[in-house]
Amino acid sequence: MGTAPNTVKNNNILSPPRPCVRYAFYMTSTTAKPRRSNGLAGPAAKGVDRVLISKTRLQRRVKELAAELSAEYAEGEVVCVGALNGVICFLADLVREMDIPAPVELVHVDRFIDERGHTVEMPNPFRESLRGRDVLIVEDIVDTGVTLKLLVDKVLAENPASVKVCTLLDKPAHREVDVQIDYVGFSIDPVFVVGYGLDYEGFYRNLPFVGVVDSAVWPPALLERPKFDS
Ligand code: 5GP
Repeated sequence: MGTAPNTVKNNNILSPPRPCVRYAFYMTSTTAKPRRSNGLAGPAAKGVDRVLISKTRLQRRVKELAAELSAEYAEGEVVCVGALNGVICFLADLVREMDIPAPVELVHVDRFIDERGHTVEMPNPFRESLRGRDVLIVEDIVDTGVTLKLLVDKVLAENPASVKVCTLLDKPAHREVDVQIDYVGFSIDPVFVVGYGLDYEGFYRNLPFVGVVDSAVWPPALLERPKFDS
């Protein structure tokens, strides 16, 4: 049987095929699609002002955090608790880089902003029992700290063996509540960020990088806050 053109004749199946003349023509022809040099060219990123943390930096940092966590819990396992929806990308990537048993427990947190300020509630209980287990709360971003404080209190009420916190992003400038964070991916300035799970009005979660939306009104509910006469 003859060999197909442009296949590599060795035993290393990972070797890429050598470029052929047709391929070289395609790359230089005017019909080739423009490359997305900064990740902002596609429609999914419309409205994003700049990339703050690139996909490459995210991947590298997630691997570093996963290695540290795998070493920390090397003797056993750790239950990773995350609040939907913002944590989806970070949590999925983090646990896949960890080489220890890491069951995942996802919860919903409701946020309200009214005249009394920023309050959060966790409407449903944990489905996994956390009693006597090592728990890692995985957060997408810690801003005021109110959400993290609620999660820590809810986990502690289950009598775990230990509780630690890992967040991808930390915005210490906005902190209102004192919370301890054990692992931080990136400490950032008080800008509004989207991407890699974080949204603005439901969009941008699927961006592979973290970007900044300068025009974002945050928190959005502030727009609906009732006005009182003094
Ligand atoms: P905290 O309770 O710490 O004020 O806020 C935590 C939650 O607010 C996060 O889980 C996230 O949903 C939201 N949040 C805070 N800062 C940002 C931000 O810059 N971008 C986005 N998309 N969400 C944020």
